[in-house]
Amino acid sequence: SLSIGIVGLPNVGKSTLFNALTKNDALAANYPFATIEPNVGVVGVPDARLGRLAEIFGSAKILPATVDFVDIAGIVRGASTGEGLGNKFLANIRESDAICQVIRAFEDPDVTHVDGDVEPSRDIETINTELILADLQTLEKALPRLEKDAKRNAKDKDSQELLAAARSAQEILDGGTSLYAAGDRDVDLARLRELSLLTVKPFIYVFNLDSGELADEAVRAKLQELVSPAEAIFLDAKIEAELAELDEDEAQELLESMGQTESGLAQLARVGFDTLGLQTYLTAGPKEARAWTIKKGATAPEAAGVIHTDFQRGFIKAEVVSFDDLVAAGDMQSARSAGKVRMEGKDYVMADGDVVEFRFNV
Ligand code: GDP
Repeated sequence: SLSIGIVGLPNVGKSTLFNALTKNDALAANYPFATIEPNVGVVGVPDARLGRLAEIFGSAKILPATVDFVDIAGIVRGASTGEGLGNKFLANIRESDAICQVIRAFEDPDVTHVDGDVEPSRDIETINTELILADLQTLEKALPRLEKDAKRNAKDKDSQELLAAARSAQEILDGGTSLYAAGDRDVDLARLRELSLLTVKPFIYVFNLDSGELADEAVRAKLQELVSPAEAIFLDAKIEAELAELDEDEAQELLESMGQTESGLAQLARVGFDTLGLQTYLTAGPKEARAWTIKKGATAPEAAGVIHTDFQRGFIKAEVVSFDDLVAAGDMQSARSAGKVRMEGKDYVMADGDVVEFRFNV
């Protein structure tokens, strides 16, 4: 599933946030087959449609799509040059789909800041610079090999293109720009995948604020401006830790008392999902109402494969009704009589919110 790595300076609230993530007991209990490792926090993507589906089908359980948060990397200025240390502690982050940078925006005289005072714009710069330097190191190490390959296989298009992409990447990074920000405009990002570079990944910025400032539009706008066009999320890590311990109603009450409708972790899961171009389709029955994660543009057999590889291999057809049509009709029976339930074949491209039942051979 989708995974996000957390980075940031020391003392910005990474561990506090991560502990809140891993305390998410409600989810852990609903995914008994998931191996939840100590360095992975699982967060459900809030989805109001699931509650409605559970009503219609009388489902006993609701299983949202999930996002995994894998590990945290504390980074300080100069980390990338420190005797290989930098690259070592970024190892797990390399495997993640996106990078979440936690930035301190809270004032607290009892919590020291490594650079003396609270200055979000400087901290963002520091972390971005270290990630860029780490990528430059990776490229410097890889380039001699890529050059040799390209020379030896003069007719091989792949090795020529990889070398060209690596060189363009080096140029972009030398100019102080992350590869993701440069985008496919200047370099073929997909070509670079095998090099496990960090700045090719989309970034999500999390500002850790005093809870009193969470609802302050002026504060938020100023911080958002520092990272646009990337997405920013505003939360109070200490409150998130409290929320993780509360039941749903109590949590909602605490959020509302701060002028919020959704927890920071829920926002983070939702934004991570959007940032990576993912969508969900839905299945429902008496046992469970469930959301499944697919890439936008996935076909029906690919969607079936997310449930089980056998479903993809033996795919025959999919019985599909859009969530809105189903709700308008009231139940499956009425949706069928109204002609809203379609039989789709292997070329069907899934739409967000399709409610599906797959037919397959085993
Ligand atoms: P990390 O080094 O980034 O993992 O930071 P920690 O999560 O260990 O937090 C460092 C210190 O800051 C701890 O004492 C936390 O209790 C405190 N802290 C974390 N988040 C907040 C916050 O939102 N507000 C305040 N006042 N303190 C926080």
